[in-house]
Amino acid sequence: MTSTVPVKADQPDTIGGVPGAPPVRRATALVNRVAAGLDSAPVQMAAPFTGLPMVTLPQATDADTRAVFARARRAQHAWAARPVRERQRVLLRLHELVLEHQDEALDLVQVESGKARIDAFDEVSATALVAAYYGKHSARILAPRRAAGALPVLTRAAELHHPKGVVGVISPWNYPLALTAMDVLPALMAGNAVVQKPDNQTALSALWLHELAERAGLPVDAWQIVLGRGSVIGDAIVDESDYVCFTGSTPTGKRLASRIAGRLTSYSLELGGKNPMIVLPDADVRKAAAGAVTACFSSAGQLCVSIERIYVHETIRDEFLRAFAERTEALHLGAELDYSAGMGSLTSPEQLRTVSAHVEDARAAGATVVTGGRARPDLGPLFYEPTILTGVTERATLFAEETFGPVVSVYGYTDVDEAVERANDTAFGLNASVWTRDTRRGQQVAARLKAGTVNVNEGYAATFGTVGVPMGGMKESGVGRRNGAEGLLKYTEAQAIAVQRGLRLRPFRGLPPRLWTGAMTAGMKVLRCLPGR
Ligand code: NAP
Repeated sequence: MTSTVPVKADQPDTIGGVPGAPPVRRATALVNRVAAGLDSAPVQMAAPFTGLPMVTLPQATDADTRAVFARARRAQHAWAARPVRERQRVLLRLHELVLEHQDEALDLVQVESGKARIDAFDEVSATALVAAYYGKHSARILAPRRAAGALPVLTRAAELHHPKGVVGVISPWNYPLALTAMDVLPALMAGNAVVQKPDNQTALSALWLHELAERAGLPVDAWQIVLGRGSVIGDAIVDESDYVCFTGSTPTGKRLASRIAGRLTSYSLELGGKNPMIVLPDADVRKAAAGAVTACFSSAGQLCVSIERIYVHETIRDEFLRAFAERTEALHLGAELDYSAGMGSLTSPEQLRTVSAHVEDARAAGATVVTGGRARPDLGPLFYEPTILTGVTERATLFAEETFGPVVSVYGYTDVDEAVERANDTAFGLNASVWTRDTRRGQQVAARLKAGTVNVNEGYAATFGTVGVPMGGMKESGVGRRNGAEGLLKYTEAQAIAVQRGLRLRPFRGLPPRLWTGAMTAGMKVLRCLPGR
């Protein structure tokens, strides 16, 4: 691994003392956008690259949060009354603004999360893509749909989609810009108001997009941001929302779901993963190794869809491991706000503790560290080397549990059925990856994997960047999907309206029921053969 001299914290007038970051007054201006809690006992957050104070955030109370929902509810009616095409124009303008002002977004995402700029760009591009997708397709997806009625000609049926009302969005710290966009923008497009709770660690990125959305024409109360710990304001969000969209860990998702069940509100949960990659014997080993570096170490592995387990066919295992380790060691670790680094830092001391503990525990349980395996305080307080392990046994915590860091276990296999079985042998089902020269075979293997997204000859980026298809988790990785038509329609109540003319759906006066049911039976047989029924 190459590396650069650590950041010197000698620029206290920039956010987090990070050289080249926006000035502190910019953070203050963004914080003033929060909807509540400005008189509260604030919390101070630290920048991962320097460990220095980054921003002081007001914290809402339970009562503050409920008041914000009341304001959002009032704003929702006027927003929903606007034609969908007018709402779309706001998103198309937002798409332009995001691309135009991307440098500031890249700085903020890097400073708050510690990720490399190339990974921050993933967030900018996902945000722009999702704004463009819903900016172009919402009217079509939400349009009333005519359906074949119970009796041809006599029953006219249609399906409508109404907004839920006020959507509560709870977001994690790892993809603060992209996940805000992916979850908030479709909720708004469907005609809802949104109250969002970002994670304190990365609140500025969400506030930045919020500011841009207002510039793009979004009424300010239609999307409101509250800050606070989930343990303090989480219940208010669940109690007041007409739909809850949660992204975060599986344990928190389960806790929220049990509270939501008491209200029978609808929800989606985007949760954790232990994502596998299968390298088939015919794969291009060098491409697979290069792909694995991106798949495992983007955002220092703090990515829900990143790969933590690799199954390589025994015939190419040694060659793959050599190429993978070589490329991993060539990754440049750094904290610069430019494109020089291939991998950045972890985001919080808790993350560093988990990653270090998982690696030490795996070692104690017999694993071999092929490369990495240590923290790098010489680069910054939260740096940890990209780490490849072999010989990981079931006794190791990371064998089955998500590490959410730059650590991957490589295993050999002899038969593709065995690889599929081992890849599926997990409580999770978020993302997976298959590498082969035969893409048809790759798709066949992909369809056997129990994961919400599967990428052939890519780690995660192909599905992540294709925002027109749904993304989400099977098994304990979640409930529901974001992106695509599903990611918009989940924020609506479907309503069926049917108009009956002429004949009622009961025997008319004087007609014996047996004759009526006989005629209906014959009719149903004929209708089955008609197209469109
Ligand atoms: P987390 O601890 O579950 O927190 C996620 C969010 O939930 C934070 O804003 C957190 O705020 C809030 N929260 C915690 N307890 C809450 C409660 N009782 N009520 C309401 N909100 C509450 O998850 P994390 O550690 O931040 O994020 C990493 C996890 O997210 C990983 O497992 C990762 O795989 C998963 N993730 C999944 C996806 C996906 O699309 N499937 C995407 C990104 C991340 P506070 O902790 O500040 O209270």
